[in-house]
Parts: sequence; structure tokens; C-alpha cells
Amino acid sequence: MSSFSCQHYEVAADRCLLLKTDCVPGRKGCVLKNTCKFAIPAEERIRRKEEEKRQRHETI
Ligand code: SF4
Repeated sequence: MSSFSCQHYEVAADRCLLLKTDCVPGRKGCVLKNTCKFAIPAEERIRRKEEEKRQRHETI
């Protein structure tokens, strides 16, 4: 189990207000970059998120 809180996270849109894109902790420009270690690299989580969005659009 994990918990997460960031002042830049917009819950309603599930987006980063700072970077104006998907919230993927540890991604380039994220306040957590270089301060936290992640089990799955940010680049891989970005790739997965993009894939999920692509699949969602294909089913609509
Ligand atoms: S990407 Fe980083 S800075 Fe942006 S909302 Fe997520 S944790 Fe916060």
C-alpha cells in the first residue's frame, strides 16, 4: 500500500499542473526527480500510461 501527495497534482483531471501533462512521479521536470527511487523507472510508467490512453481511445 502506498500514499501520495503533491501540491502540483490535480486530482480531478489526474494531471500535473506544473508540467501540464500526466502525473508520473519522477518524470523529467517532476519535483521528485532525483529525490526518490522508484521500483519502475518513470520512462516505463510513461510508456504504460500512453499505452493505456491509446487503448482507451480505440475502444471509444
Ligand atoms: S509529475 Fe511530479 S510534480 Fe507533477 S504532480 Fe506528479 S509528482 Fe507532482
